[in-house]
Amino acid sequence: MTATLAIGNYKPNNRAALVEAFDAHVIAQPNGIADLDEALRKGIRAVAYASGQRFGGAEMDLLPDLGVIANYGVGYDAIDVDAASARGIRVTNTPNVLNDDVADLAIGMWLMQGREMRAAEAHVRSGDWAKDGPAPLNRKLSGGSAGIMGLGRIGRDIAHRLAAFKMDIHYYARSEKETPGWTYHADPVDLAGAVDFLFVALVGGSETEKFVSKDVIAALGKNGVVINISRGSVIDEGALLDALESGAIAGAGLDVFVGEPQVDPRFLDLQNVVLQPHQGSATVQTRAAMAQLQRDNVAAFLKGEDLLTPVV
Ligand code: NAP
Repeated sequence: MTATLAIGNYKPNNRAALVEAFDAHVIAQPNGIADLDEALRKGIRAVAYASGQRFGGAEMDLLPDLGVIANYGVGYDAIDVDAASARGIRVTNTPNVLNDDVADLAIGMWLMQGREMRAAEAHVRSGDWAKDGPAPLNRKLSGGSAGIMGLGRIGRDIAHRLAAFKMDIHYYARSEKETPGWTYHADPVDLAGAVDFLFVALVGGSETEKFVSKDVIAALGKNGVVINISRGSVIDEGALLDALESGAIAGAGLDVFVGEPQVDPRFLDLQNVVLQPHQGSATVQTRAAMAQLQRDNVAAFLKGEDLLTPVV
């Protein structure tokens, strides 16, 4: 009898690897657990999770022998970790293996927004360059000031990249960190007031909901640009849209949205934003590394060994 339930819309190769390694039973979403055969449900000891839907105590209670939830991704805000802990269920994630790709995408959105590369490419493709001459001038980026909201694993990798662009680096975290001379701000509004470019790399979840508040956005000012690769929930999206529409800030680069994959249609009318489909870690190489780490955590649990990357 299989002991592993894989939940999510896995790509065929990852799905096949889970089936081969654990004879996993695969369903798309946690609301499918209730429909499983009772004997199968009662035998499940490990869940390989890759869904954005909430995995709460009610779903866990349908799997009475569950001992681990191995999340595919570093952000595990879809999983109710307190409910898991209360039931003695461990949770693992896939940190570090995706830092480079997510930091690369943050830098890419920053360059694309500031250098207006979308409009500039359209200028070439449309023939306007030959017809009307050069595209309008855009904005110098190197040597400016950047703030990192959340100097964790990914935030730090973004900061190192920005340092190579000769940026003056500031950051917010709940405690001051050891850095190569970057400026610490204990208050997020202070951070936004000190920089032109704000890179958001906080964890998601209820504790950081709308952390990038109306006040933070206002403090950034009319030259300010927000780059968000963390979660849509960490920004007050309504306040961000108001500021983008009114010119209270200069622009944004966004990989994550409230209610994604649905995107507020107000974003689609804005020319000062770069929009990406939550693809920070979405390279062939990194997704393979994440899937491997997820499987390694499941395997370690089933063998009674130490988990590789536990959250709790
Ligand atoms: P991390 O190392 O845990 O860093 C998280 C940061 O959030 C830290 O600076 C931490 O501050 C801060 N933080 C945590 N709880 C907080 C709270 N209650 N209030 C204020 N700040 C808080 O995480 P990471 O590996 O860098 O990943 C960050 C996030 O990126 C993930 O959680 C995920 O949501 C997102 N992500 C997105 C993609 C994508 O495809 N776009 C891919 C991977 C990850 P302290 O230093 O003070 O603890």
